[in-house]
Amino acid sequence: MSRRPVAQIDLLALQQNLQRVKQLAPDSQVLAVLKANAYGHGLVKVAQKLTAADAFAVARIDEALALRTAGIVKPIVLLEGFYEAAELPLLLANNLQTIVHNELQLQALEQTPLEGQLKVWLKIDTGMHRLGIDPAEVDNVYRRLWQCSNVLPGIRLMSHFSCADELDSATTSKQLALFQQLCADKAEQHSLANSAAILAWPATHGQWVRPGLMLHGISPFVGKQGADHQLQPVMRLSSRLIAIRKVKAGDTVGYAGLWRAKTDTFIGVIAVGYGDGYPRHAANGTPVWLNGREVPLAGRVSMDMITVDLGHFCKDKIGDEAVLWGPELAIERVAAQAETIAYELLCNITPRVQYQYLGDNG
Ligand SMILES: *Cc1c(COP(=O)(O)O)cnc(C)c1O
Repeated sequence: MSRRPVAQIDLLALQQNLQRVKQLAPDSQVLAVLKANAYGHGLVKVAQKLTAADAFAVARIDEALALRTAGIVKPIVLLEGFYEAAELPLLLANNLQTIVHNELQLQALEQTPLEGQLKVWLKIDTGMHRLGIDPAEVDNVYRRLWQCSNVLPGIRLMSHFSCADELDSATTSKQLALFQQLCADKAEQHSLANSAAILAWPATHGQWVRPGLMLHGISPFVGKQGADHQLQPVMRLSSRLIAIRKVKAGDTVGYAGLWRAKTDTFIGVIAVGYGDGYPRHAANGTPVWLNGREVPLAGRVSMDMITVDLGHFCKDKIGDEAVLWGPELAIERVAAQAETIAYELLCNITPRVQYQYLGDNG
């Protein structure tokens, strides 16, 4: 019996979620976003299975090089672009496409002698105010890229939404209108939509959509779950019961005695904790799936263990499997109980967790 938590990754569900993206955005190509170890699911395994995507996007060059080392040949886009001119030959040699979002990158492209041309995505700041060229500068930057001998013709135009997950916000429509106005006189391909926009803002789809979270079967909207969008959870995080303890009414459990038994009951100890990536801030009552029912977290999350209230009449045994999130228990619910988002839970999974890939037969 393994006492290590296990993350089972359902690669067929992953593929079906990509098909769902294509169904929602039938006229767009798919730039699958695989940053942060493919949202904690395993960069290379996920890329190998997403053969139906048109290209991949990562945040940083080392993520792109890891994909190339693994033999991935699809186009790869660097979402933050390059950081210095010295990286440009590496981009060229590895067939990496770069985003250009600032003047320094533009100058580096203009001034570095290169033995070939790079594919460039021009990132426009339409209101996120994180990365991107100011609207007033877009025409100038676009013209300079167009004239730059290191840049391939066909400059893709992109922007990122700040509030696409807020269905009643006017921000997304405003960002889209500004983008369309800035791009109206440029015959180029457009890319705007993250998962929330793919699901809720069809007018934003353009030639390239950029799904990340939804590929893993998770909803970007507060109060919704992947199943509400016909998506299937890809990760199932589980561990085992390693102790069952009888406590009396009034006894407290765990650090700081933060949970107190109202009646005599049994406490189950499960071998997963914040050292594995289970959120330390998960509140008392956070659900855990065990033997066909939900049991509530009882007491503070420790580094290697959590404690749950099994109830007075439990039939659970040491060694039984507990599911922290997965098809039985939506990760969105756990995230809400920990006052965070599923994105963070996935990124926080640590190397102590053992990965098992299902449907990994080519
Ligand atoms: C992370 C990211 C995405 C994907 O966002 P999701 O909400 O996970 O779909 C798309 N575009 C950019 C620029 C990103 O950084």
